[in-house]
Amino acid sequence: DTTNASLMARRRAALPVGLGQSHEIFVDRAENAEVWDVEGRRLIDFAGGIAVLNTGHRHPALVKAVQEQLDRYTHTCFQVLAYEPYIEVAERLNAKAPGNFPKKSFLLTTGVEAVENAIKVARAYTKRSAVIAFGGGFHGRTMMGMALTGKVAPYKIGFGPFPAEVYHAKFPCALHGVSVEDAMASIEALFKYDVEASRVAAIIIEPVQGEGGFYVAPIEFVKALRALCDQHGILLIVDEVQTGAGRTGTWLACEQWFEQAGVAPDIITMAKSLAGGFPLSAVIGRAEVMDAAAPGGLGGTYAGSPLACAAALAVMDIFENEGLMARGREVGARLVSGLQDMASRHATIGDVRGLGAMVAIELFKNGDPHQPDADRVKRVVTEAAQRGLVLLSCGVYGNVIRILVPLTASDAVLDEGLTILSASFDAT
Ligand code: PLP
Repeated sequence: DTTNASLMARRRAALPVGLGQSHEIFVDRAENAEVWDVEGRRLIDFAGGIAVLNTGHRHPALVKAVQEQLDRYTHTCFQVLAYEPYIEVAERLNAKAPGNFPKKSFLLTTGVEAVENAIKVARAYTKRSAVIAFGGGFHGRTMMGMALTGKVAPYKIGFGPFPAEVYHAKFPCALHGVSVEDAMASIEALFKYDVEASRVAAIIIEPVQGEGGFYVAPIEFVKALRALCDQHGILLIVDEVQTGAGRTGTWLACEQWFEQAGVAPDIITMAKSLAGGFPLSAVIGRAEVMDAAAPGGLGGTYAGSPLACAAALAVMDIFENEGLMARGREVGARLVSGLQDMASRHATIGDVRGLGAMVAIELFKNGDPHQPDADRVKRVVTEAAQRGLVLLSCGVYGNVIRILVPLTASDAVLDEGLTILSASFDAT
């Protein structure tokens, strides 16, 4: 008998605890914004595989594109026998990235690999080694990924030492009392006490901190960062692994920086929803920066797999053909208004925020931002799963519930999810 409990027992015996698991639920099948577990129970998916399913589970156009690719060839290694879909993905990513300068892109497999490679090209181009990242930031689980990650638990515990020459500045967050000026001052302090600006290759930032708690980088901060980078010859890397591929109302969140303030990053990383569930990541950047690495220095056996490229082309087509960018903004607005309504009835919800459909609520005790309520988050997330809604938490203190529902979800499914969430607050 295949039950969640029996699979959980096998999992405990066969897999290391370090993998963790949010829900003791095992999936049997999935479609758009719904999943069915091995016991036949239906759940609404507000987690979207952690921001991977902007186009939903098994979008028919994506399934068709991958099936067609399966029937032609599945692997040659792009660096041995190249293929057109890889080039087309790069061309389309270059065209979508903001900034009035030539761009080039290359593909990898995971988000953290894109981050590693962004640092590699930044170092190769600038011939400098230091990198500045932000407190609360998350960039992945390799050694450099962990070094850049500002959130210690659980990602970095017991795994050091990490690569040197990585420094952390403050990420501005009005809710928790860190102003744009404070954050800029923290970088100036690094220059003064820790690393000369002339040794810094890059500053890496998430446009909206993902794992760190869905805090949006204020546009004033972005402008100041760009000016600082220009002043010192530092490259600005934007990690759009979680924000990219339409989650924030535009293909890339940094398009909004360009629209609002004319700011374009030098390098962009993408992954997750880029190929809608197939492992694919991308580094997109200024052509001259991207060409700084020696031939053969970039790439990987599976990097830019044909199946993943076919999926990515389908994802971009779906956005264009189905007006999914506009739909994403509607989804975000619907969620925010439902959550604001919930906040008016549940004092523990101290903040409702988001950019596009990257939406979160933050829970406090007694309405006090100094008293993050991670326990309540755990209870609500567990209760919601029992009631048929998959949620994810995040935040440095674990007191944030984030929503990464497929943008293809119907209004009915969104409302049903919100109703379950509200009931889960009532019940905890
Ligand atoms: N960068 C950001 C902003 C992320 O949110 C993540 C994953 O959550 C990563 C990098 C790492 O991506 P991956 O888990 O695919 O290596």
